[in-house]
Amino acid sequence: MPNCIFCKIAEHNLNADIIYEDNDIVAFRDLKPQAPTHLLLIPREHIPTIEEASPAILGKLMSKASELAKKEGISAKGYRTVINCRDYAGQSVYHLHVHLLGGRWFHWPPG
Ligand code: 5GP
Ligand code: ZN
Repeated sequence: MPNCIFCKIAEHNLNADIIYEDNDIVAFRDLKPQAPTHLLLIPREHIPTIEEASPAILGKLMSKASELAKKEGISAKGYRTVINCRDYAGQSVYHLHVHLLGGRWFHWPPG
């Protein structure tokens, strides 16, 4: 999708600290991390929100998130996965992404 920054990252046309990629998904570090570890996992395909995503791609994103949590060393103490959907949740990039956050305490309920 033209002008989509996450499509550009997935195509290697915009610089990002990519830590994992395969045919279906890409994981990279958030530009403005909100925790000591803050990764974003995206489908290669341009899917705007969780609502247009297939069960298969959601499964891949979430299972890779838990795998990367172990690799990043945030699994034992705990971490958070977040998918923001549209305005009330604060979605700012309309290319589906899973936030993987860890390395500190998180509040509940979220702000
Ligand atoms: P959202 O608010 O849509 O759930 O999350 C979008 C996330 O993308 C934010 O955490 C923001 O910091 C991150 N982000 C926005 N632009 C870029 C970019 O160009 N590169 C990287 N690595 N992250 C970005
Ligand atoms: Zn996109």
